[in-house]
Amino acid sequence: MSNQPYSFFQSVEKSFDKAAKFTKWDKGLLEQIKACNSIYSMRFPVKMDDGRIEVIEAYRVQHSQHKSPCKGGIRFSDEVNQDEVMALASLMTYKCAIVNVPFGGGKGGIKINPRKYSVYELEKITRRYTSELVKKNFIGPGIDVPAPDYGTGEREMAWIVDTYQSLKPGEIDAAGCVTGKPITQGGVRGRKEATGLGVFFGIREVCNMPDIMAKQGLSVGVEGKTVVVQGLGNVGYHSAKFFREHGAKVVAIAEHNGAIYCADGLNEEEVFQFKQKNGSVLNYPGATNIFKSEEALELECDILIPAALENVINGTNARNVKAKIIGEAANGPLTPEADDIFTERGILVVPDMYLNAGGVTVSYFEWLKNLSHVRYGRMEKRFTENMNTHILSQMEGLSGKKVSEKERLFIMHGPDEVDLVHSGLEETMIAATREIMDIWKSNPEIPDMRTAAYVNAINKVATSYGELGIFP
Ligand code: NAD
Repeated sequence: MSNQPYSFFQSVEKSFDKAAKFTKWDKGLLEQIKACNSIYSMRFPVKMDDGRIEVIEAYRVQHSQHKSPCKGGIRFSDEVNQDEVMALASLMTYKCAIVNVPFGGGKGGIKINPRKYSVYELEKITRRYTSELVKKNFIGPGIDVPAPDYGTGEREMAWIVDTYQSLKPGEIDAAGCVTGKPITQGGVRGRKEATGLGVFFGIREVCNMPDIMAKQGLSVGVEGKTVVVQGLGNVGYHSAKFFREHGAKVVAIAEHNGAIYCADGLNEEEVFQFKQKNGSVLNYPGATNIFKSEEALELECDILIPAALENVINGTNARNVKAKIIGEAANGPLTPEADDIFTERGILVVPDMYLNAGGVTVSYFEWLKNLSHVRYGRMEKRFTENMNTHILSQMEGLSGKKVSEKERLFIMHGPDEVDLVHSGLEETMIAATREIMDIWKSNPEIPDMRTAAYVNAINKVATSYGELGIFP
């Protein structure tokens, strides 16, 4: 970011302004939506294993309270600074609005490289950060609900919920103070694969739109499409898995130290196991090596899924990209220069702000589970199975025919938690894709899907302010 003419937060503001032109909201209201409402910048001391006291720099930003609570991850990284946390918090407001998750945007950050600390030190830092948030009323199931982000995961979320609960004894909904928790601490099934599955659902919906596909010169549907995935981490792995399971061919997988290509398609699980054993995807049996990993982005394919890092497609390589659709699974994989080149070349960019919203959507489901104090499916699973069994036996009796055992089990099956979470995510991603596309199609002046997504977000947040009676 350092050689950019403007900061990360300013670049978010620029994208906002570009889209705001296509809305009719009062200038003052637009200014309010853009602003970060509350910024908590903190420093606290932590005693390290060697007896040294280190002063830790950390932040929590609540961008918008147009809906409560605020929601957004906590990252542990050397790069954390106030501007970055502000930008990420504002993106969370827009992301939540687009996928109809009724939260305001928030984000937190601790400026540490987690690899340089022992587990015990990390636990002390996380717990102290949580108690600082409690002291200032910056955390709570109805106030602000963090989640994992870069450098944090289930373990840190378990420390946060435990600290919160010990400081707020008797708070019945305390488990909803953070999401991304282990299942045993109130987490929800289906969260691990949520972002990759959301990426798949979003792209599948785009591929099911005949007019869009005709414009890209592609046939309707995901089946048979060729896909290149960059990054075989959580998001890339699961995106590849769902594309493959639905009949697409993942012809290349790129990792940080090399990429592989196979025209017949790759199985992500087998490639992952190979990488675990050999430290690289290179030399995977039956595949061609691509030693310069970034060259995989320029392969012939229908769909390109960058699922690793930011700024990987930029002014230098965007003209060499041959994909017809780019699905931004990572956050910010395209620079604004690349965006302009793709608009000019007619390549469809499906934007990160909503495409990778599967994580926050399922976080919303986790929060609802925590507030309702019941596992999804517990109330209806048995009832549904009994009813399905009854309907099936009636139909078999009336028709005199019997369905196969496999079909019987499928029809009878009542929903488990993971079924309901996947289904809720599918509905969310389909609805969000259609809303954005409708906005884009309704105004030929809107240059790209990203701007249409922003317009959608601005309209929803502005409307909520109206609903609150703030701007009658
Ligand atoms: P991850 O750490 O699990 O995976 C990233 C993968 O990318 C790793 O396998 C890494 O080796 C690989 N990689 C690193 N540099 C590379 C390079 N130069 N070329 C190719 N591969 C490279 O991370 P993740 O959780 O999968 O996140 C990936 C991206 O998706 C990030 O931008 C993240 O912000 C975004 N994202 C993640 C989630 C989520 O739920 N995990 C949600 C929204 C957005």
